[in-house]
Amino acid sequence: MGAEIEGKLLRVDMTRLVTHIEAFPEKWKYLGGRALSARILLEECDPECAPLETDNILVLAPGLMAGTSAPTSGRLSVGGKSPLTGGIKEANVGGDPGQDLMKLGYRAVIIKGKPADPELRFALDVTGDSATILPADEHKGKWNYPLIEDLTKTYTKKASFISIGPAGEMQLAGASVACTDHSQERHPARHAGRGGLGAVMGSKGLKYVSIEAGGSPARKPADKAFFQLSKKYTRDFVAGPGQEPFPKWGTSVICEEANSIYTFPYKNRTEGRSPDVETLDGMRIVESFETRGGGMHNCLTGCIVKCSNIVHDADGEYKTSGLEFETLTMLGSNCAIANWEDVADLDRLCDDIGIDTIETGAAVAVYMDAGGMEFGDAEGTKRLLREVAEGTEIGRAIGNGAATVGRLKNHHRVASVKGQAIPAWDPRPLKAAGVTYCTSAMGADHTAGLVVDPGQAPEEFARASQESQILNAAVDASGFCQFLMPNIEEIAEFYACFYGEEVTRERVADMGWQCLEDEWEFNRRAGFGPEDDKMAACMAEDAIGGEVKFVWDVPDEVVASAYVRFPSREELYTARPS
Ligand code: SF4
Repeated sequence: MGAEIEGKLLRVDMTRLVTHIEAFPEKWKYLGGRALSARILLEECDPECAPLETDNILVLAPGLMAGTSAPTSGRLSVGGKSPLTGGIKEANVGGDPGQDLMKLGYRAVIIKGKPADPELRFALDVTGDSATILPADEHKGKWNYPLIEDLTKTYTKKASFISIGPAGEMQLAGASVACTDHSQERHPARHAGRGGLGAVMGSKGLKYVSIEAGGSPARKPADKAFFQLSKKYTRDFVAGPGQEPFPKWGTSVICEEANSIYTFPYKNRTEGRSPDVETLDGMRIVESFETRGGGMHNCLTGCIVKCSNIVHDADGEYKTSGLEFETLTMLGSNCAIANWEDVADLDRLCDDIGIDTIETGAAVAVYMDAGGMEFGDAEGTKRLLREVAEGTEIGRAIGNGAATVGRLKNHHRVASVKGQAIPAWDPRPLKAAGVTYCTSAMGADHTAGLVVDPGQAPEEFARASQESQILNAAVDASGFCQFLMPNIEEIAEFYACFYGEEVTRERVADMGWQCLEDEWEFNRRAGFGPEDDKMAACMAEDAIGGEVKFVWDVPDEVVASAYVRFPSREELYTARPS
């Protein structure tokens, strides 16, 4: 590829409180999203730095196709060294900030340093030709929803926002970064949840970023065939998988299916199925639309999947949105909380306080398992989450994640890898997914390379994990949402039309692999080694299943083989994200 360099780079120094806009470097021309974030961190961040100190960097990088007319292509990568794992982290998020940054021409925002006074709060206002740091002490301690409600009175109707809640300000290791969605109200319901990047933003004194994209036009492709390709892709998608229950109704409707294959963890993962699957399944949410309102929407401009649910309460008032399978599982089933409406309340609390629903669900389940409270206590869990915002001892422990709660309660059953809680998809029946959890530089993260194939042959575990990791890295670099399910061939086609030159599918797969290599290299320099690739011991000790039992029994050498690239097969180019 050899197109002209396009775009600019925004550098923000939170120590000196100055910003600098410069031309986007040629060397990063074909990097976007997760791949760009990894390269910036590898080149500019000391891997041995303390995650909440001056030398860590917070990266905001829209995907390569963000800001274009390609469907569902405006995802944002938030990156940094994780306070949860101590390794590199990228958390991928929807909402409008990714689209808006790219429409203004910002390929990335690199935020360094931290203010001398940790009590001060600041805002970063971004427009097409300026970036200004402003005092924001009046917003100190605000939860995400009231914060955005206040900001929408001050900024234009088209502004989008990136923010943190009190958990980020307290620099808790489970803190998320919120992005406002595409609704008129601009709900802060889309979260870069995993890895505690909200704490990194909090450590820099940054309460929020505003992006005023106004009526900025979409980025122009080099080849007009790009528009035809976008139209054709949209048509084919709507006529194909777009009409199936998933993605049409979002991930929340796959609870029954997950339960059937023992990957709907119950009571801190001591069982793989929940007796409450019917009352938790997202079809109950879909049924509620008729009487309460709400429905499905696109969380970002230009999304054709529209898999994000808007959930109303019994009075027909907005409660939360983007209530996903992972949240229904980790804050519902895994805590033996039986009803989706309680999980909706918990989801709203997490979004408002600014904490990851997966890590928080795992942390609460460990607390329950250790005798801290009864399994199934929904009201107690709501009180516990409020304690996160209040900063009590147990609240801070919950906000710091499952491993911290395990240490506090001296409890052995903590399902995590590299300090990050295992998500809903269970590595005991899904062993290739387990290989991903062990080998991903980011710890247990299903979005790094999920493989949902419980009947897989053992000799396929490492290859399947590796192919899924390459595909997901390529998708996360592109800006397409994983729920659009583009394959590598299709991404190559979009790149070729956008840049007006040949882009092979092999090149896109290599770009995905290079992203993984950059992430692994960062972790090696940070001191990670094979001993950090261990699955949580409880996954090997606690069997789940029916007549056939599942435990984690994948040998270390099989896990390690995912680091050596397999020869690429046709399947790699045509596979779609799980
Ligand atoms: S597919 Fe769903 S999660 Fe992805 S951008 Fe669209 S609405 Fe958001």
